[in-house]
Amino acid sequence: MKAIQYRRIGAEPELVDIPSPVPGPGQVLLQVTAAGVCHSDAFIMGLPEDRYGYGLPLTLGHEGAGRVVEVGPGVDTIDLGTDVVVYGPWGCGMCWHCAQGMENYCSRAAELGIRPPGLGAPGALAEYMIVDSARHLVPIGDLDPTTTVPLTDAGLTPYHAIKRSLAKLRAGSTAVVIGSGGLGHIAIQLLRHLSPARVVALDVSQTKLDFARSSGAHETVLSNSDAAGEVRKITGSAGAALVLDFVGLQPTLDLSMAVAGVGSDVTIVGVGDGQAAAHVGFFRGAYETNVAVPYWGARHELMELIDLAHQGILHIEVERFSLDDGVEAYRRMAAGTLQGRAVVVPGL
Ligand code: NAD
Ligand code: ZN
Ligand code: ZN
Repeated sequence: MKAIQYRRIGAEPELVDIPSPVPGPGQVLLQVTAAGVCHSDAFIMGLPEDRYGYGLPLTLGHEGAGRVVEVGPGVDTIDLGTDVVVYGPWGCGMCWHCAQGMENYCSRAAELGIRPPGLGAPGALAEYMIVDSARHLVPIGDLDPTTTVPLTDAGLTPYHAIKRSLAKLRAGSTAVVIGSGGLGHIAIQLLRHLSPARVVALDVSQTKLDFARSSGAHETVLSNSDAAGEVRKITGSAGAALVLDFVGLQPTLDLSMAVAGVGSDVTIVGVGDGQAAAHVGFFRGAYETNVAVPYWGARHELMELIDLAHQGILHIEVERFSLDDGVEAYRRMAAGTLQGRAVVVPGL
């Protein structure tokens, strides 16, 4: 089968031909219908050898959708032919966090060598993929896999990040979204749907700001050295109740802490090397600001998102690529010219 693999440290991913996998006991084989391309893939492929821990060759793709075409021995909770999306942050299913549905925070995954697809285990950028357990599948019914697959990460991650702060997003409050790309444009829509907060979105170009506005942002601000002052003009002295930083570099973390209001949440989602620590101390920053770094989301939260998608309230912007053109999706991501999520559709 065709697959897109990261094979050599520092090199581009490659389109390769590899044997189709066969499901073992407890496993499910999906014929992939769609696979999302995430900025985190670019991040891990940019790591030097001594910090790269995902194995080589690595079939990429931690956002997957597919049709169940074969099951291994012992699998009796999902029917052949079911269209599904894959819950990616696989856990052991047995520990306290997993029992809450929060397999993203499984306390035993590292010890047991359990890795997410596309981030250690073979991923979705292929014609077929193995899912380790039917527990990690969410049926999607008649939803379009191409526009639904980004919900597994670009949707789930902001959904989790927003839900934990919902009580702070009262009428009259402001939520700030830094980075209006794949995750950011869904975050804006979720904020608008789940809360009465005013949404201020930032990005580095007018095109991206127009995109943020069409996704539902009330206000947009160019992310430059004047940005904190511009956001403060909108929030007034209250500052923001929630800042979602989808970049995570030092300039955006400085910005996040500069616009955070008293009792706010600063939530760092972007995988950058910035630090908020310099802004935390008695004479720095707003009182009672909580800084958190969430990872992905919970199983039940993905189910909730799929239910939201069935309500038709989400408009996921995608650019489609065939598997043959999958490497090009990464080039476009690096060039910053993607609008929304790049999705590879093997059948295209
Ligand atoms: P993306 O490339 O689609 O979007 C990033 C956006 O940020 C782009 O629109 C870009 O123009 C904008 N941007 C870049 N520099 C900026 C700056 N200085 N100020 C404002 N905007 C800026 O990326 P994505 O796939 O949406 O991922 C966003 C981030 O979230 C990445 O760092 C990714 O690794 C991370 N991520 C984290 C988790 C998690 O669990 N914490 C999950 C998924 C993705
Ligand atoms: Zn991701
Ligand atoms: Zn666990």
